[in-house]
Amino acid sequence: ITFEELGLCPEIERAVRFMGFEEASPIQTKAIPAIISGKDIIGQAQTGTGKTAAFGIPLLQKIDPKNKKLQAIVLCPTRELAIQVADEIRNLAKYMHGIKILPIYGGQDIVKQIRSLKNGTQLVIGTPGRVMDHMRRKTVKMDHIHTVVLDEADEMLNMGFRDDIETILSGVPEERQTVLFSATMPKPILEITKKYQNHAELIKV
Ligand code: AMP
Repeated sequence: ITFEELGLCPEIERAVRFMGFEEASPIQTKAIPAIISGKDIIGQAQTGTGKTAAFGIPLLQKIDPKNKKLQAIVLCPTRELAIQVADEIRNLAKYMHGIKILPIYGGQDIVKQIRSLKNGTQLVIGTPGRVMDHMRRKTVKMDHIHTVVLDEADEMLNMGFRDDIETILSGVPEERQTVLFSATMPKPILEITKKYQNHAELIKV
């Protein structure tokens, strides 16, 4: 189906057109309305299916540009993915005003990161270790976060981030929306789902 049929805000519709997307991919067709409606979802999708926009578009629609507090967080397994996801979401936000998106990952100057975080970042896209580090320093504040996305959750668990992910999820208000994307659904993923999601809907493509 077309992006017009998904009923997005005009700024995102325009960005999607600018990016050359003609039709919504299957994961986008299913996940975008589900995430906008506020449901917890499990998206089973591989890279290349358009999964980044499938969560990026609803995230942007849910962020209040007037509220300068941190509102949403995306966790990714690697620095490369964090940068790539941040770039894609920044492109989607091209015509929106007052939305600040920041990738944070290990190896990057933490003082610089802290300065950027203080500048009204509403969406953080980060690797679990570095996000934990900021949580401990209280330079990332979790108390106004309404949406958490776990991207490539199976990869994050394979890389040993399970404890970090659980600590982060435990630090975010319970009334949040939790979205999980994973290419595979091994037992530990199902355990995370059960523990940290609420009546999650499985969307498989
Ligand atoms: P992803 O699965 O998120 O890594 O996306 C794979 C690639 O497809 C990225 O370069 C996206 O920019 C692109 N893409 C995402 N959604 C669409 C779409 N609906 N139509 C065309 N390209 C898309």
